[in-house]
Amino acid sequence: MTVPRHIIEVAIPLYLEKTFHYLVPERLQKDAITGRRALVPFGNRKLTGYILDAAADSAITNLKEILEILDSELLWTEVELEFFRWTASYYQHPLGEVIRTALPAGINIQTRKGTAGEQGALTGGKRTLREKFYHPGPVLDPTRQPSAKAVEILTVIREAGVISAGELRKRFGTCTPQLKRLVELGLSTAEEREVFRDPFKNSSVKRDEPRRLHTHQKSALDAITGGLDRQQFTPFLLYGVTGSGKTEVYLQAISHALELGKNALVLVPEIALTPQLTGRFQARFGGGIAILHSGLSDGERYDEWRRIRRGLARIVIGARSAIFAPLDKIGIIIVDEEHEASFKQSDGLRYNARDLALVRGRMEQAAVVLGSATPSVTTVHAAEQGRLTLLELPERVEGRPMPIVELVTMKGIKGTISPSLAHNLAETYEQGRQAIVFLNRRGFATFLVCAECAKPLTCPNCSVTLTYHRQRGQSLCHYCDYAVPAPGTCPSCGGTTLSELGAGTEKLEHDLKELLPSARIVRMDSDTTSGKGSHERLLSRMNDGSADILVGTQMIAKGHDFPEVTLVGVVNAEASLGMPDFRAAERTFQLLSQVIGRAGRGEIPGRVVVQAIDTEHYAISSAAEHDAARFYREELEFRREAGYPPFTFLAAFAISGLSEQAVSEQADSTARTLLHLKSELKVRVEILGPAPSPIYRLRNRFRRQILLKGADRKDLHRLLASWRQQATAVSTVRISVDIDPVDMM
Ligand code: ADP
Ligand code: ZN
Repeated sequence: MTVPRHIIEVAIPLYLEKTFHYLVPERLQKDAITGRRALVPFGNRKLTGYILDAAADSAITNLKEILEILDSELLWTEVELEFFRWTASYYQHPLGEVIRTALPAGINIQTRKGTAGEQGALTGGKRTLREKFYHPGPVLDPTRQPSAKAVEILTVIREAGVISAGELRKRFGTCTPQLKRLVELGLSTAEEREVFRDPFKNSSVKRDEPRRLHTHQKSALDAITGGLDRQQFTPFLLYGVTGSGKTEVYLQAISHALELGKNALVLVPEIALTPQLTGRFQARFGGGIAILHSGLSDGERYDEWRRIRRGLARIVIGARSAIFAPLDKIGIIIVDEEHEASFKQSDGLRYNARDLALVRGRMEQAAVVLGSATPSVTTVHAAEQGRLTLLELPERVEGRPMPIVELVTMKGIKGTISPSLAHNLAETYEQGRQAIVFLNRRGFATFLVCAECAKPLTCPNCSVTLTYHRQRGQSLCHYCDYAVPAPGTCPSCGGTTLSELGAGTEKLEHDLKELLPSARIVRMDSDTTSGKGSHERLLSRMNDGSADILVGTQMIAKGHDFPEVTLVGVVNAEASLGMPDFRAAERTFQLLSQVIGRAGRGEIPGRVVVQAIDTEHYAISSAAEHDAARFYREELEFRREAGYPPFTFLAAFAISGLSEQAVSEQADSTARTLLHLKSELKVRVEILGPAPSPIYRLRNRFRRQILLKGADRKDLHRLLASWRQQATAVSTVRISVDIDPVDMM
């Protein structure tokens, strides 16, 4: 006799390649469907598993039974599962881990009320907020009169029709006794509802209307709406200088998508998720927007996630993880500042949200707009090849001119501030205008050097120099936070004369104070912005005119509009060129262009002074001359010759551990295995290394890397896939594989 067996395939959020099969007991059969989680026995543990499919009645015997279904709602759709599978395969990451990454963390802190198997309890979690709402009651003429305060409250309830207890408390203070009385008398009825925490609750927004588009904006918008109307995957690069009106194009394209009954996903770098940007979306669209930023608690994030899943939010704005937002009917995906490295996740599932936007957009038949003033070299190349449609906004709105840039060579000039920058700063200050001085390095001196043995002070855990912070009186490791009192003594020879080398933002601030003692100077870097809200406080001092000069790291390069800033100074423009990374020139060009774009955003034209030792370097000179075309031409030439992306595809193996020898042995054996597999599979992949990572020691761990380069993505993928199948874990050494690595340090 054959009894029909119900078998499901389940992914487990562990570093396991396989998925697993389970039996479904009779009582759970109608609920065991894909999109839900199940509690499953695993070894001697009980784990949460993700139900993928009903498996065909298989020959597998000895299957265990699932214990419980954990959700009543569906957590993902079929298309989303396809997207998760694609992501798992491309990034060589276990599917269970991909799904875990995609779901909000708050979902796991649900407390299950009731007993196992009790369905009704499954949707409620302790993170769900419930609030009382009051309506007018059936009784109009009560037998006994309520108090005067209760009557006042009743009037408000009757006017509102329905109003929350929280809202009433805001107006009347504590009013629980009065409300209780009103309900007893039948003058009001109360009901409990589930509410969502609202990240907007403290902001009030003025409504704004679409602008009339200028010619370039109009053709860009037409191209995008054309794609939307066809309901086909259409990818674009919206390449527009800062202030050229890209955001206005996004807003109107989204409007069009909404009219078609489609939804919109907007990805921005975390740092850009400011009230300024989100406010513009609210002002244009009102409600129905979900915002996912890192400041949300797990509970708030989970609330936003559910609002999206239930279709209560049609526009989702978020940092990289929002690419997994449970939004359906996606008509348009926008990736603003697409060149930003922060779209790449640096641990766990090392995905790039910019690249995944194109993948999800293809699956959803959506328009995908990658926007930037300084697009990544890879994106520019894709546009040149016709894989993306190029849309250009070459001019600033209202024809504001690009700032005048002066390049100052610092050969032979001592100190941080050149005579030209000093002169310009003094002039700007006397005219009562504002200036920004940019230096991509925090701290006072870059580091301390012993005058006796000439050795710099380095971190004992990481192979980097310690940065000297005068105010704190410490030398600090910017990687692991190791700190020693400074100046202190030389750990190598005990010498007591330590001299300062290089300059950081703290030193720059000090020098500026000496130059202009009465100027009000604000410094913004990760040392001054660690407190909650300190970022906004410092920025508001620039906005309300209570500061004259803003000094800062790359933190000040992005996103903020300071109309009164007429002068920008860049100190040590090549600071980022020295990085052992093939993208060093690209990063330098992007950063410089962004900083230069900070000048003259208002009525008065801007001036920029760029200081560098080597002003001839193409990354610096092309940024100063606003000649992006030249930069991309030269950079692509370099990439082609050196065999770097976009002409090759990369994967980086990082091998790290506490024992230097174990790491070294593991790195060697990994490389040997890769070489062996390469010849077996006959794939054209270059295997470079193992070599010590540029930061050889980090937080006490020794680090080596192997870089894989392939001219053909499929070859590279095949090699990685077969390596994964035979990889054996050595518990003391960690091996991680990064596909399309961004951070090469
Ligand atoms: P970007 O995103 O490229 O930096 P924005 O869209 O923020 O540019 O536009 C810069 C400024 O110009 C904003 O204040 C915006 O409101 C304004 N703006 C954009 N497009 C227009 C337009 N067509 N007419 C008038 N003002 C515009
Ligand atoms: Zn350190």
